[in-house]
Amino acid sequence: MFTIKGKTGEWEVVVGLETHIEVLSNSKLFSGASADYNPTVAPNTQVSMVDAAMPGMLPVLNDYCVDQAIKFGLGINAEISHKSKFARKQYFYPDLPQGYQISQPAEEPPVVGRGYVEIIGDDGNPKKIFIERAHMEQDAAKNKHDMHPSKSFVDLNRSGVMLLEIVTFLDTKNPENNSYITSPDEAERYLREIREIARALGVSKANMEEGSMRADVNVSVRPVGEKTFRTRTETKNMVSFKFIKSAIEYEARRQIEVYENGGEVTQDTMRYHPDEGITTVMRSKENALDYRYFPDPDLLPLIITDERIERIRKTMPELPAATRTRYIEKYGLSEYDATRLTETTDISHWFDAAVGDKTARAKPIANWMISELFAHPENYDIENQKSGVVDGMRIITPTDLAELVDMIAANEINGKQAKEIFIKMLDGETGTPHEIADKFGMKQITDTSAIESAVDEVIKNNPAQVEQYKSGKVGLLGFFVGNVMKATAGKANPAVVNELLRKKLG
Ligand code: MN
Repeated sequence: MFTIKGKTGEWEVVVGLETHIEVLSNSKLFSGASADYNPTVAPNTQVSMVDAAMPGMLPVLNDYCVDQAIKFGLGINAEISHKSKFARKQYFYPDLPQGYQISQPAEEPPVVGRGYVEIIGDDGNPKKIFIERAHMEQDAAKNKHDMHPSKSFVDLNRSGVMLLEIVTFLDTKNPENNSYITSPDEAERYLREIREIARALGVSKANMEEGSMRADVNVSVRPVGEKTFRTRTETKNMVSFKFIKSAIEYEARRQIEVYENGGEVTQDTMRYHPDEGITTVMRSKENALDYRYFPDPDLLPLIITDERIERIRKTMPELPAATRTRYIEKYGLSEYDATRLTETTDISHWFDAAVGDKTARAKPIANWMISELFAHPENYDIENQKSGVVDGMRIITPTDLAELVDMIAANEINGKQAKEIFIKMLDGETGTPHEIADKFGMKQITDTSAIESAVDEVIKNNPAQVEQYKSGKVGLLGFFVGNVMKATAGKANPAVVNELLRKKLG
């Protein structure tokens, strides 16, 4: 368990996350304007009368957006509400032309109800993180500030694009239920899982750098052993895993200090300052916003039938958790390896492409990817599996790695030679692994008689070691293997070398 040591003892950390993901759709949640607001699109060119909040305009719900919400809900094992509503959440911002955001009521079940995702907890075991709800809402427009001279602009292209807000669940009635986030690392793993589910489903790019995924971070602390939850603070609009982890840790330590100095934590909204790595109060509880939610009179309740849910369920692809299970059960990979290979859908697709239908390849491919390829991210194109040479570095494809692994399995080359071929490829050598092996004369010697003469030579030249081995120092086998490998310029098949040595040394 992750704890922080204070002056008075150990403290544990309780984290809740409200994650917004920008949902992929052709048009906006309540209008027909394009939802593609990327920076190359000229400002204020994708704006309908609804998005600009002209008086008397009526929102029309985009059915595809609803399908996206249902799809995501099924992806997080959630209940889909058969009936949910839309509400107006009132506040003023220059980038919110309506003066309110259409969202779903805070007190009623939204389109996606209670669900969960599974992550690897800090103890290395799978852990469920409960989700309370995921609701649909509109994104705001974007303010742009130009300081020379000082002017501000509003670009309405993003106004009305659909967001899905995913809120984790803290079971205050059953504090023993530990299905919530308890450390900065678990927060990151949870967010990565949400991101990969959203990507696998095509619901969102969920890219923090691009702003299509952002999180509000709720943090509270309590002494280890305490059964109830204490007051939380909320740090708004975080867009990097690193900053989120830093904010959780800083905020937890700040709260511990407050308690240990006899103070009380107040339910404040905080702002994180990335340069200093600290949080400061943005607004205190006394100034908390009252959003005055009320039902949107322009929108009917959202009714979702079982048929619709089942139709969408049939289109669901394999999600990261299922992929992990498949790797463990079908390929016999360790939990750790399976987790590494499902960190992103692109990685698991790369792995799947390399393994193909040859189960025997899975373990060696996993080892090569995790211990070699991941150390050279510039040498593979995880997204598009492209090939070629860029800046003198070869882009290694799933086919390249599969061929290399097959050559070892077929005893054509040994592990050491495979590594050499791999390094040559990293350095820009072109051609298939077979062609490279031919070009550099890397062929494994499996011919027993050729290896046998090297074995005999090594035994003859090291009488002292032979004596020691025979008197019980069997650890010396490695010494003999090493010498035979050296004598064969690294080309001998290690399995054959081992077998012959054991036989001859008795
Ligand atoms: Mn929200």
